[in-house]
Amino acid sequence: RATLGVVGGGQLGRMFVHAAQRLGYFTAVLEPDAQSPAGLVSHHHIRTSYDDPAGLAQLAQLCQAITTEFENVPAQALHLLAQTRAVAPSAAVVGIAQNRIEEKAHFAACADVSGVNCAPYTVIETPAQLQAVQEERTDLLPGILKTARMGYDGKGQVRVKTATELGAAWEELGGVACVLEKMLPLKAECSVLVARGWDGQIVSFAPQRNVHVEGILAVTHAYEGNMPPALADRARDAAISIAHHLGYVGVLCVEFFVVEDGTEHGGLVVNEMAPRPHNSGHYTLNACDASQFDLQVHAMAGLPLPQPRQHSPAIMLNLLGEVWFDADGLPREPDWCSVLRLPGTHLHLYGKLQARAGRKMGHLTITGPDVASVTSVARRAAGLLGLPGLDAI
Ligand code: ATP
Ligand code: MG
Ligand code: MG
Repeated sequence: RATLGVVGGGQLGRMFVHAAQRLGYFTAVLEPDAQSPAGLVSHHHIRTSYDDPAGLAQLAQLCQAITTEFENVPAQALHLLAQTRAVAPSAAVVGIAQNRIEEKAHFAACADVSGVNCAPYTVIETPAQLQAVQEERTDLLPGILKTARMGYDGKGQVRVKTATELGAAWEELGGVACVLEKMLPLKAECSVLVARGWDGQIVSFAPQRNVHVEGILAVTHAYEGNMPPALADRARDAAISIAHHLGYVGVLCVEFFVVEDGTEHGGLVVNEMAPRPHNSGHYTLNACDASQFDLQVHAMAGLPLPQPRQHSPAIMLNLLGEVWFDADGLPREPDWCSVLRLPGTHLHLYGKLQARAGRKMGHLTITGPDVASVTSVARRAAGLLGLPGLDAI
């Protein structure tokens, strides 16, 4: 029986494993954590670090094809696996997505075809560059200083208003390679998921509109009319051309900012990409006839990619660790029964044992016959659970 492998044991790996198992595949997860969401549900769990040659050799021996579920897996590990097995996405594109400097260079390189650019930015890698930016690039202030590597959920980022704050922020981030990005007045944010096969076949989901709270995704709005149609078409086309330009294989998520029309960016700015399924695509599990994880399985296994069809409007609410604590900070089990009594609610919990503030513990997707009823149920569920981010509908 064929076995599919994934490097990383988080919730994205868990949902990948579920999708692979539904097609009859065995699965193997490489993840050091004994209690990881994906390791707990997989046939094989190789419990070593992501760069352990023995663990990687075991994964390669077990699997026909291997993918990854988080972008900070050492690109070198994927490179090693690719010597003997089909690996998607490739070490090269994962390497680009792991480094904001390379990622932005890629976006710039295909801006002519994609029709979108990133926010104005500059690179800061040395004290001399910092000083030069402090003196000559005040046009980028107020801005956000972001580490080139390892940032996620708004970690590794500091918002800065002045040149002095910029200096302090660079020190706070450890003096590592960073990009300073101009802070843009966002009207909205959206993301696009595409899946591309080995043969270049590409399918995509309609853009979803995302609301972030404190740098972490809180709410995803996935329904027709979630953003102006012309903008949605542009975002989708841009994501497709970015994936083609990378020669990407697998599921790719491209994040965009929507800014005021009439600016130099023409209303759409590309933010970053994730070389894997994405939190903003979790609604596809319940609202579409093929989920982002189904497409990940199809793409890596070389199966035809179905063009997914969304059959219900949906809103996804992220369930962070905060939900497991009451107003006094005491641990509690959320009142799932009240939530599940509401029509069209789909609860997904990732099996994480320890709740912590900001930790992604699960998500709730609401589907229904129309946007109004989905919105109303989402508001009630958010009220019951004390979730933020729905005011911005
Ligand atoms: P993720 O978890 O999506 O990988 P991340 O830590 O890589 O997040 P970004 O996507 O770069 O971080 O930024 C997080 C959020 O901060 C964005 O979704 C947006 O809300 C805000 N943000 C980032 N850059 C800018 C900018 N240049 N102007 C305005 N807001 C920004
Ligand atoms: Mg990111
Ligand atoms: Mg992001």
